[in-house]
Amino acid sequence: MPTVPARKRIALVAHDAKKAELLEWATSHQTALGRHDLYATGTTGGLLADKLGLSVTRFLSGPLGGDLQIGAAIAEGRIDLLIFFWDPLAAQPHDPDVKALLRMAVVWNIPVANNRATADYLMSSPLISAEYPK
Ligand code: PGA
Repeated sequence: MPTVPARKRIALVAHDAKKAELLEWATSHQTALGRHDLYATGTTGGLLADKLGLSVTRFLSGPLGGDLQIGAAIAEGRIDLLIFFWDPLAAQPHDPDVKALLRMAVVWNIPVANNRATADYLMSSPLISAEYPK
């Protein structure tokens, strides 16, 4: 049984209309996020690094394959948790990639937050800073 370490590998993605919300959320969890290894799609990662000074490993931009890269990283056991603020009010050109990413998160039993409330609950779980037998 693989054990998820206390220091998590967290992937963050936000569609354009949700980027401001993700930044606001990340600001309110900045200290806690700094205790984990952060990954993000290109533009989201750039914003998190520039505006919050967080160290973020960036994949490609979502529409260019970044969502699929994160999905592949989940399948390979390199991501432990996904914060994905997708836009429920606008069609995305890379909708099949979005679906693939969400599917991988469920297939590999990765905690995934698609909105701010769930992301708050995840970050306040004792499991965020503890080992977790998966
Ligand atoms: P972005 O990608 O962070 O490069 O904007 C997010 C997405 O649209 O999936």
